Amino acid sequence: MNLSVLPPTMQSKIRVTGDCWIWTGAKNNKGYGSVTNGHGGSMLAHRKAYTIAKGPIPEGMTIDHICEVKACVNPDHLQVMSRALNVEMVGVRAQARFNAAHPRPIGPAAPDFGLLAFVKHLETNLARGAEGLPYLPYPTK
Ligand SMILES: [Zn+2]
Repeated sequence: MNLSVLPPTMQSKIRVTGDCWIWTGAKNNKGYGSVTNGHGGSMLAHRKAYTIAKGPIPEGMTIDHICEVKACVNPDHLQVMSRALNVEMVGVRAQARFNAAHPRPIGPAAPDFGLLAFVKHLETNLARGAEGLPYLPYPTK
């Protein structure tokens, strides 16, 4: 995806770093980019970028950073996800980081194979990122 997909007002606040589009404008206290919503309030920069590039975010859904970089607003690194799954992903990512640091064979299908599949997918993305390849979206349940 090209930076020109976003309006110039957003482009001027983005620093392209590798494959990530790092928001250099205002940020909220959690490290996410913040922009005006056009109605006197503010909204998250990555949600605005996603909406402009890919369309409306379904009611009640959250946007997950596939690249794990909070300040990134590259629509290709953003994925719609339920809040419940997004919370679950925190644990999954911690597990994946542990697995990456402690390589070991993954045994036969565990009871929650869905979670293992996520870990495997994240490890694949970490490897792809290291090779400069684009991230793949997570499978959704
Ligand atoms: Zn990114």
